Amino acid sequence: MFLTHLACSACDTEHDPAWLQNLCTKCQKPLLAKYDLKTISRKLTRQKLRARADSSLWRFRELLPLPQNVDPISLGEGGTPLLRADRFGDQLGLADLWIKDESVNPTQSFKARGMSVAVSMAKHLGATKLAVPSAGNAGSALAAYAARAGLEAHIFMPYDTPKLNVIECREFGARVQLIDGLITDCAAQIARRKTREEWFEMSTLKEPYRLEGKKTLGYELAEQLGWWLPDVILYPTGGGTGLI
Ligand SMILES: [Zn+2]
Repeated sequence: MFLTHLACSACDTEHDPAWLQNLCTKCQKPLLAKYDLKTISRKLTRQKLRARADSSLWRFRELLPLPQNVDPISLGEGGTPLLRADRFGDQLGLADLWIKDESVNPTQSFKARGMSVAVSMAKHLGATKLAVPSAGNAGSALAAYAARAGLEAHIFMPYDTPKLNVIECREFGARVQLIDGLITDCAAQIARRKTREEWFEMSTLKEPYRLEGKKTLGYELAEQLGWWLPDVILYPTGGGTGLI
């Protein structure tokens, strides 16, 4: 495993990745995964990557936090097509426009990437009950990956969440609670009850590994474009992890 430690994004305090962690224990800010990139750069070459049969995001295994000898909780996320959009590009006056079709992920959004990695790590580190506030796709993704992992999912959604997402979560076996309020009210419910209920909180940036799954979108862009990056990337930020 090339994950070396978790570092606080604000105060740099190091945390041991061998334990379930949410926020920095000193200042309550998000934790970021740090890797031994020097060693990875020697071991993982472009040629090696090209030869891998696995097209899911787990093909970037060295750059992900799960130990190499642990099976990931995967539904085939990532490896989405990069489509050239000539006519749409013409309409917008763009000569070289591409669309990364994230809708073909297992739960129809890029949220599947983050949840695959985060649920894999949560299970590996001993969590049994996962909780998240969601107004849609993140809830669906958690429900699917928790079901795949055999873990409980507790999802708090505002009343006006699209019905489809609510049904999807319940069909995956998640316990869904609809809250008369905003997503922040849903998060407050989880914060209030998580210790008593023994829930591990999976909110955006309140655990370190959803971000690690989402970053693979960037790796795929580079690989699919022959290790060249676009001048401009428009990216769904969701709760903010996409920007990071
Ligand atoms: Zn800190």
